[in-house]
Amino acid sequence: MIEEARLRGEIAVVGLGRSGMAAARLLARDGARVYASDAGQGDEVTRAAAELRGEGIAADGGLHDMTRIRAASLVVVSPGVPPDALPLATAREAGVPVVGEVEIALSALRGVPYIAITGTNGKSTVTALVAHLLAALGHRAAAAGNIGRALSDVALQGERPEWIALEISSFQLHDTPSIAPVVGVLTNLSPDHLDRYHSVEAYYADKALMYRNATTASRWVVCADDRRALDLGLGTPGTRWAFSRLDQHAAAHYEAARDALVVFGKPLAHRDTLPLLGWHNVDNVLAALLAVMLADKAHQSKAARATLAAALKTFRGLPHRLEVVADVAGVRWINDSKATNVSSARVAIEAMSQPTVVLLGGKHKGEPYTALIEPLRAHATRVIAYGEAESMIVTDLQGYVPLERCGSSFEKVMQRARATARPGDAVLLAPACSSFDMFTNYEARGETFRRLARGDA
Ligand code: ADP
Repeated sequence: MIEEARLRGEIAVVGLGRSGMAAARLLARDGARVYASDAGQGDEVTRAAAELRGEGIAADGGLHDMTRIRAASLVVVSPGVPPDALPLATAREAGVPVVGEVEIALSALRGVPYIAITGTNGKSTVTALVAHLLAALGHRAAAAGNIGRALSDVALQGERPEWIALEISSFQLHDTPSIAPVVGVLTNLSPDHLDRYHSVEAYYADKALMYRNATTASRWVVCADDRRALDLGLGTPGTRWAFSRLDQHAAAHYEAARDALVVFGKPLAHRDTLPLLGWHNVDNVLAALLAVMLADKAHQSKAARATLAAALKTFRGLPHRLEVVADVAGVRWINDSKATNVSSARVAIEAMSQPTVVLLGGKHKGEPYTALIEPLRAHATRVIAYGEAESMIVTDLQGYVPLERCGSSFEKVMQRARATARPGDAVLLAPACSSFDMFTNYEARGETFRRLARGDA
């Protein structure tokens, strides 16, 4: 499809973020005529467009030339652009096919095997772990996709990787018709993104697109403890392998008696050797081990198992995921800014081993907060609710946990947290909301938390 579009005319790239920029450059490198645009009004967009023009690629910042988009042979969309955005609607109306950035990158990387990772939570952690384990086994491995490095950027590098760990969101799956991983991982499923999907079924349907090109040779890794995730891929061609914290028959599972992670019938690592907090990370490690070991039979040898066990100990968790950022006056400050939905905030609260002041708030995404009542009652001394979602949080949690409202100043939120926490307590930022009401993204929110927790200027 891409080859044909290149020959037929100009390819339009919509969105000049990291992925859009890399896609425009990749298409141009491979000989396509490219027009890239972004309607954003900020300096960053203006600069990005100028940069591309400097490289000989036609680009507009601050507007989309709709005539050009309508006449394009193909539209390539960045993951941040909502599906109903005007340039995409225009393209569809004109009969122009629309694909995502991952689609064109996969086409450029044809022949490179990859493990795809999707699910509601844990995607980035599993993706980073998979790349880390593959590298430990001696492969040139890259982590890319939704994790922050565009797959097109990998394709632009001179040397091709031997393996790719590809994190792929539901939005990206929607626009990646040729997705066909050697191993596909579905970490779990719970409601999310209800601000962008009209129903939870529509969100799950996009997740199911990971299976769209399944063959009998496909290998799938699923969570046996998650009914919804199990049901989603039922009947898909290929073999399914389960990981579980509870089911001792699962190919990869946790065995309480030995406090060990067992894969293919044998213990591979002790839980207390894992450098990551929380039970959900046991799930993530099991999923990553299983995916890597299924990717190639050689990864199941005795020597490979020893290498994998050693590599787990050297994995550093990702920033903004249960990241301990400061210990000040006996109070531990933990940044889980990436907990942008209710289910991820829930596991973060459950991972706490000390009395905890929990910071909840931001931009509401459509889910009720009542699922947090139980873990909050077990772990929280107080909830500080803030941001746009403040009233909804208070309505859902009032009467169950001590609560206070804090408005929309993050400095004030942090002051209140400092005044409330006692020595021996933790302060946990696990917002259960997106950050866009007060910050540019979850990273900026987490960095502000880190800075203020440390008392840096
Ligand atoms: P994603 O890329 O899917 O957003 P991350 O690995 O970045 O997932 O983790 C984001 C947050 O989700 C973490 O900070 C943690 O609170 C929660 N989380 C991580 N792994 C899991 C899991 N396996 N199950 C449930 N929640 C998880």
